[in-house]
Amino acid sequence: MIIDVHNHFVQRNFISEDWWTGWVKRRIARDAPTLPPPDLEKLKKEFVTPVHDATGERVVSGLEAAGIDMGVLLPLDFGMLIRDPETSIVEQNRRNAELARKYPHRLIAFVGLDPNRGQSALDLFETGVKEWGMRGLKLHPCAGFYVNDKCVYPFYELAQDLNVTVLTHLGTEFPPIRAKYGQPVFLDDVGCDFPRLRIIGAHVGSPWDTEAIKIASIHDNIYLDIAGRHFMLFANAGDFYRNLRMLLDILPYKLVFGTDYEFGPRERLKEYVDAVREAPRRGREHGVNFTEEEIDLLLSGNAKRALGMD
Ligand SMILES: [Zn+2]
Repeated sequence: MIIDVHNHFVQRNFISEDWWTGWVKRRIARDAPTLPPPDLEKLKKEFVTPVHDATGERVVSGLEAAGIDMGVLLPLDFGMLIRDPETSIVEQNRRNAELARKYPHRLIAFVGLDPNRGQSALDLFETGVKEWGMRGLKLHPCAGFYVNDKCVYPFYELAQDLNVTVLTHLGTEFPPIRAKYGQPVFLDDVGCDFPRLRIIGAHVGSPWDTEAIKIASIHDNIYLDIAGRHFMLFANAGDFYRNLRMLLDILPYKLVFGTDYEFGPRERLKEYVDAVREAPRRGREHGVNFTEEEIDLLLSGNAKRALGMD
């Protein structure tokens, strides 16, 4: 069984235009830096259109085609930092919940919100879980808060009361959203103050991997997802397997599988999934050994614990 804890059902009007511009610029800077500056409007059409998923059915079919049994939908809320998008955050959460209810064996939806919205966000979280069947909370601190800010604490308390998991982005982002808030060390306070809360930190905290690994290794309740590692795989498979070996040596029971689909590998999703699933055989080609048991834990066993499913 394969559980992917990090997915997004995205429509263009779920996030304001400034964010899409930043997203396209980062993609250019990463994949093909160019001078003179590229025609952003043209590239936005080219890059953003394929991500726009009018009904959410594409997330479902994409996961299925890649052999992923279950995915976790994580709505994104950057409205307080940039400006509220055309589709309100309440409506986005409602649509994510609706999609998950339509495919209960394939999807789990988390509530995604910015705690800076205060009581209305707390109400949304409660409604999402109690009435819409959502099963966790997604935080994106780069929208403008630290995960250990006191304004977030009522959300952790509620998550603990509702017995649901919190997944938070860790690591840098791109303008206009702020990298500094993604530093993993701030999660240490949350681990100390909410030892019963199940927490997943995303992206192994990249580029603060060492810090994230340390924080996860000292807290029983903090897990890390590997969403975003496909870049390493596609650049150099040997590096990917060596890195995965190091992560599993330190966090054999804490590392969970994630893809960031539909922002992540997209058309190469299956290639990424297969590379992980077949790590015991393919790792050997690069001089790296994995057991079936540890890959099973990475692909589902650890996620079941992190999501409170077992
Ligand atoms: Zn993501």
